[in-house]
Amino acid sequence: MLLKKVCLNHQLCDILIKGNTISQIEKSINVPDEIIWDCTGKAIFPSFANTHTHASMMFLRGIGEDQELFTWLNTSIWPREAKLKPEHIYPLSRFAILEMIKTGTTFFCDMYGDADETVRAVNDMGIRSMIPYVGMDFFDENETERRLNQADLFLSGPSPSGRIIKGTSAHAIYTCSERLIRGLFEKAQNHQTYFHIHLSETEKEVHDCLNKYGCRPVELLHKWGVLGPKTILAHGVHFNEDELHILADTGSIIAHCPTSNLKLGSGSMNLQKYLESNIQLTLGTDSVSSNNSLSMITEMKVAALSAKQRVGSVLAGRVSDILKIATRNGFQAFGINTGRIEVGALADFVLVDLNNPLLLPNEQIDSHLIYAADSSCITDVICDGKPVMQNKTVTNETQIIDEFKRVVWELNRL
Ligand SMILES: [Zn+2]
Repeated sequence: MLLKKVCLNHQLCDILIKGNTISQIEKSINVPDEIIWDCTGKAIFPSFANTHTHASMMFLRGIGEDQELFTWLNTSIWPREAKLKPEHIYPLSRFAILEMIKTGTTFFCDMYGDADETVRAVNDMGIRSMIPYVGMDFFDENETERRLNQADLFLSGPSPSGRIIKGTSAHAIYTCSERLIRGLFEKAQNHQTYFHIHLSETEKEVHDCLNKYGCRPVELLHKWGVLGPKTILAHGVHFNEDELHILADTGSIIAHCPTSNLKLGSGSMNLQKYLESNIQLTLGTDSVSSNNSLSMITEMKVAALSAKQRVGSVLAGRVSDILKIATRNGFQAFGINTGRIEVGALADFVLVDLNNPLLLPNEQIDSHLIYAADSSCITDVICDGKPVMQNKTVTNETQIIDEFKRVVWELNRL
């Protein structure tokens, strides 16, 4: 595939894609018999990596608004999730992936039940994902064993595509026992893969951890030996200086979810301080039940604004840093060779319409992408060298939406 006259860093060029890789970027490339894609009037950007979400929660968008986290989970979310059957997960995940593609995302790190169904949805939709087996035992020892056995089954099954990483996940330190958390981490380690957990989302969680275990959440996980360059900590709003040192030393990955944190009143992370602490910082949306969208464009804007507000300085949350945590850092954390438009990188990218009013004038387009753009600016999305959205159209879009509506109707009747 040969992209002709595409705008990269304010200059027109041709980009040759061979297989799933960017193989050449030149002012002009001519290769006989190559499929030509005329990109006149379009600019190319890396696609987004959403490092924390719960794809199948699409049916809970807008449910239980204005409730505190623990009340919200106990009264609005968990009772509704109890109605879910495995057959609901595939259509719900596909619908989530449709929204991700339309908003320019080609990778997400998930956390939800019936993970095999999400694996199937990602495989069919053509994007990338880290899909973990998720454990939660509420400190019941019988449940711990059952969960650990299920994790083995999930991890030992084949992955249908090189685009999909299988891993493990424990929900949180307030819903999972030490044995489950350590066990799930060890299983991930044995398979050289990733371990995902919510951590330090609220002040209450930190307070309860101090009361129960006598230390702060990061210190607890460090003591249990479950931190490292393949551990993703979602939220991480309330880390103190010592915890940031531990996270930098262990190379652990933080999935910053600013919209969800602000919306649930969980607090505002000091992004600038985290950036200066040399930790692996990435960006995620969390689910639509607490966001209420999966758009990484919106997430970048909230990340930038909340960073500035948190320290009272315009110098925090700079354009280049925000773009980096939403693209390059996210892919890098998961060992995926993309998140940048360079020769040798995997061909994951978006094309945007330079004549969309939200992107004019074009001179400051990086800033527009964070502060002005929305999904209407994105015309095409490519993952692993293949278009997953072309001219704003995703294959089977109407069918995916109809199936989602049918599942919501069915769940509302149960
Ligand atoms: Zn979450």
